[in-house]
Amino acid sequence: MPFGGVRQVQATHFRRRQLLAKKKARDRRVLRRLLAREGRREKDRVLQRLHRVSKALVTVGNRKRAAIILEDLTLRGAGGRSRRMNRRLSSWPRSEIHRQIEYKAALAGVPVIKVNPQWTSKTCPVCGARRRDRVGQDFVCLHCDWEMDRQINAGMNILKTALASNEALARAVRFQPGALRHDVVSPLYDLVRGGPSARDEPSGVECGADVVR
Ligand SMILES: [Zn+2]
Repeated sequence: MPFGGVRQVQATHFRRRQLLAKKKARDRRVLRRLLAREGRREKDRVLQRLHRVSKALVTVGNRKRAAIILEDLTLRGAGGRSRRMNRRLSSWPRSEIHRQIEYKAALAGVPVIKVNPQWTSKTCPVCGARRRDRVGQDFVCLHCDWEMDRQINAGMNILKTALASNEALARAVRFQPGALRHDVVSPLYDLVRGGPSARDEPSGVECGADVVR
């Protein structure tokens, strides 16, 4: 989903804070006040964008009588990343967007299901094989000929996990990713491949380390 440039907003304000810290290094009182103002502005701009995203998602869920599946953030581990990557990951408002989706979905009567996020980005949804090395823009399975955009691939694994953990859901929804092998997959939203805002969320890939979530 496009996030309306949250990443760019964060980068801009990070640069501005660095600049302020350098320029006002001698006047700590003024610096503190200016930094606080920068922080407030950044937060307002990010929250406004997240509210647009969560509202759109819940509206579509309601209209299509769909359920929303989220990764259970409490099960998410971290480690082995660079300082820069850690800043990117921790500054990404993951829990805030989940909080917004959950309360808006509850108000609209859209069911929310949470699943364990482990291996979602490194598993082949067709044959179940896992990759232990880093996954690039596209997930490529080493055991079968499955190849898919990494975000959509992770989404398929999240759906599979949800179906496996919920009997009522498994009776209602049949999902066979192998059937999509030679088909065009159309996501709920227009995913602009490689577009500027479609890939806002940091994936952990950039650090180059083998991260097991
Ligand atoms: Zn496979």
